[in-house]
Amino acid sequence: MRSDPLGYLATELESLTREGLNRRLRVLDGEQGAEASVDGRCVINLSSNNYLGLTTHPRLRARAIDAIERYGVGSGSVRTIAGTMALHMELEHRLAEFKRTEAVVVFQSGVTANAGTVASILTKDDVVVSDELNHASIIDGCRLSRATTRIFPHKDVDAARRVLRELPAGQRTLLITDGVFSMDGDLGPLPALCDLAEEFGCIMMVDDAHASGVFGRNGRGTVDHFDMHGRVDVQVGTLSKAMGALGGYVAGNGALIEFLHHRARPFLFSTSHPPSVAATCLAALDVLMEEPDLIARLWDNTGFFKAGLAALGFDTGLSESPITPVIVGDAALAMTLSDRLFAQGVFAQGIGFPTVPRGKARVRTIVTATHTRDQLQRALDAFAEVGRELGVIPAHVAPL
Ligand SMILES: *Cc1c(COP(=O)(O)O)cnc(C)c1O
Repeated sequence: MRSDPLGYLATELESLTREGLNRRLRVLDGEQGAEASVDGRCVINLSSNNYLGLTTHPRLRARAIDAIERYGVGSGSVRTIAGTMALHMELEHRLAEFKRTEAVVVFQSGVTANAGTVASILTKDDVVVSDELNHASIIDGCRLSRATTRIFPHKDVDAARRVLRELPAGQRTLLITDGVFSMDGDLGPLPALCDLAEEFGCIMMVDDAHASGVFGRNGRGTVDHFDMHGRVDVQVGTLSKAMGALGGYVAGNGALIEFLHHRARPFLFSTSHPPSVAATCLAALDVLMEEPDLIARLWDNTGFFKAGLAALGFDTGLSESPITPVIVGDAALAMTLSDRLFAQGVFAQGIGFPTVPRGKARVRTIVTATHTRDQLQRALDAFAEVGRELGVIPAHVAPL
């Protein structure tokens, strides 16, 4: 009998198991929500990116259903052939207005927006200067572009400056940061990086996936939050997190967007969104403009939960956003903490290498606008109990 040419994969999986990193997929039996049925258990959900609860918002549901009834369930083509529907164009116009840029192009996801954009605007003769914790899709875009990639330590603007100083004059350079870092919840140093980009003539790009719908007026993102309008050449946002649906977009000037229409490979070679997705996102924009209370509630809950975790003595890193990591270091410990929390009815995913560096394993929590105080307090109680049992926090600190 032929030996299995994929046998090495089983060996790799065994080594993941030994490191405590082999994860089963958790399965939602119903809606994504503040409380959810996961693997048959009702749990307080601290793992989704559904910041504003829009995945189940009645206005979004209604627009999606209406679009399906009017236009069907698929677009039938890539954007550049027959798959551009009026709803796609309407969404891009609305997003451009929202982001206060000349134009916007929507991609199938934030991942394809990042990778497709970086790969198409740079060539092997160019340079990318990138924060070490930037999202995987930025890293993939850098690789696909074949540009030289120079990494600077997380948020270290002086180190980025040293890298830029060493480059030959006139070298085309992209300076790129996440707006909000997805595993730590801290903000990229956007104002200082914009200064640097201007000083060295770089293209400035920010990936605002976790800032879309969360930071800035009505959730316009970190460019609005820091008042950097006009100083960031390429803004990526996602429609998959706070916006509740699916997709990514690039906001910038007209030439950038037109160029991406011609060169961004996911735009050219992958089918566009179903009309219901575009309609859902239009409804999400309406909600951002008309129900600002949702964002206020998100921030209220964020403050309450962060303060609670810190008071219990957990290491919550440097987060400035609704993402709060509970850093424990060892991957197996992070997974055990997550499993024990789950047994107590709290779903907070354990995260280890390669998603975060070795030795920085954590349980990541994300609160949403739709969590009640009671749910968040119960989650804090579970963290206190399990954290003490596992020796992650000292036993003597009194709970809030
Ligand atoms: C989630 C995320 C993306 C990807 O967005 P999707 O729309 O889910 O593909 C890109 N960048 C960052 C920083 C993210 O956290």
